[in-house]
Amino acid sequence: MELPRFHRLRGPFYRLEGNACAACSLRFFPPRPVCPACRGNGLPSFAFSGRGTLYSWSRVLQPARGYASMAPYLVGMVRLEEGPLVSAQLADADGVDLTIGMPVEMVTRRLRDADEHGYIVYGYKFRPLLRETRKQP
Ligand SMILES: [Zn+2]
Repeated sequence: MELPRFHRLRGPFYRLEGNACAACSLRFFPPRPVCPACRGNGLPSFAFSGRGTLYSWSRVLQPARGYASMAPYLVGMVRLEEGPLVSAQLADADGVDLTIGMPVEMVTRRLRDADEHGYIVYGYKFRPLLRETRKQP
């Protein structure tokens, strides 16, 4: 990814910033210029909570260029609690028994290997939201 493009996407990548339609209150991630439901435009930004549930997931064994050092890795689709369905890598899931519908939360992590210019791109991933498992005395 070119650095100027990444700079423009830092809101969505770091803060899970999408937008919401003022007319019909639908919410979008990534942000859209026009609401597909009512054709409203000039949609104000909306910061998603980062909480959601795991909708689907898979393990990637043959990584795309730029992801070789992470393979094998998990990717998932997450239904945000505000509505949108988002695809992302899953983090901190080694040894976790992933199940559809389990709660997840957004975290900021390195997304891919450094490119030929040395840029390291960070962005959102989702990790399982685990219950505290401390033993009772
Ligand atoms: Zn709308």
